[in-house]
Amino acid sequence: MLYYITLTSLCNQKCVYCGNTGDIDVRPINPKYTITELKRFLDEDPDIIICFYGGEPLLRLDLIKEIIDNIDASRFILQTNGLLLDRLEKAYLEKLDTILVSIDGRREITDYYRGEGSYDKVLNNIRFIRKHGFSGELIARMAVSSKTDIYLDVLHLLEMEDPRFDYVHWQLDALWDYPPYQRYMDFDLWLHNNYNQGITKLVRYWINNIIEKHYMPGIVPFLGISYSLITNKSTKLRCLSGIEAFAISTDGRILACPIAPEYSFNILGDIYKTSIKDLPNKIELDEPCYSCYYLWICGGRCLFTNKTKLWGLDGFMKVCESVKHLVNELMKYKELLLELIEQGYISVESFRYPKYPNSIEVIP
Ligand code: SF4
Ligand code: SF4
Repeated sequence: MLYYITLTSLCNQKCVYCGNTGDIDVRPINPKYTITELKRFLDEDPDIIICFYGGEPLLRLDLIKEIIDNIDASRFILQTNGLLLDRLEKAYLEKLDTILVSIDGRREITDYYRGEGSYDKVLNNIRFIRKHGFSGELIARMAVSSKTDIYLDVLHLLEMEDPRFDYVHWQLDALWDYPPYQRYMDFDLWLHNNYNQGITKLVRYWINNIIEKHYMPGIVPFLGISYSLITNKSTKLRCLSGIEAFAISTDGRILACPIAPEYSFNILGDIYKTSIKDLPNKIELDEPCYSCYYLWICGGRCLFTNKTKLWGLDGFMKVCESVKHLVNELMKYKELLLELIEQGYISVESFRYPKYPNSIEVIP
């Protein structure tokens, strides 16, 4: 199973959309448990996947090394803002299977959201790790907010030559803050006229690449959703929170979703007393997901927003419209994709993503 290990609640960046305050009333800044205690808890699981998480996990490089040296995980994943990536030594870079780096698209957009100079620093650091031993999967992880042009910003990252990202994924800056719509002049207008229209263009770009070049650009939401469409297989909550993915908070509590240590629905136990076999499938989604036709392919999008509804049901449903738009746009090409598969130009397997739980949510 996948375990997010929150190594610190501190971050060395102050992004405009981030709600991480490092509040010590919610959780301690640093882990209060020892790596021996963590190991004892994880030892029950024969297939451990560890995702280093924060705050900014590279602020605790000492713990990253200690965990890699002492815990027998099948895979190690790092979610990072990328600013300190050049501190990772070759021996540890070689141990990482996937790195998800926060970058929001074009330079001006990334620097607006994440601070002046972020874009260049992150790209330089990625070039560095590619030269110094990291050969795993590199994912550009965007936050998408009012300044984003989803078409231009995804394309910018996808078509970058040096460094090359294997995949691009994004999360909407929606439903995780209160009061609602803080960073939007008019969220409805932005969603319909900017975001949804950009998605339509991006789907056409993706499909054209598949038709003309038999090449499938690594746009994560398109891959995951199309795989479900062409196989007709229904999905669980795609981030697997509370199903096969759990987070260890700095105080040793076990959470379903890593971003919400303050919510009681999210707390499943602690590493001292709880057995791993008692963790999976203890949390059910709430409505409106069970009454939604799209549940089989959406999976419920996000456990945190399903439970908290910080923008009210009305705000929640607005975001669902974007999910439905995305699915409907891809649905238009289902028959075409099936034909290309039938003719042997592409394979069903090439759509399957992620191949293992790698902390990607798939549904933006
Ligand atoms: S589209 Fe919305 S209501 Fe439907 S399953 Fe997804 S999150 Fe739930
Ligand atoms: S998609 Fe939602 S529930 Fe899943 S990990 Fe992200 S914030 Fe948590």
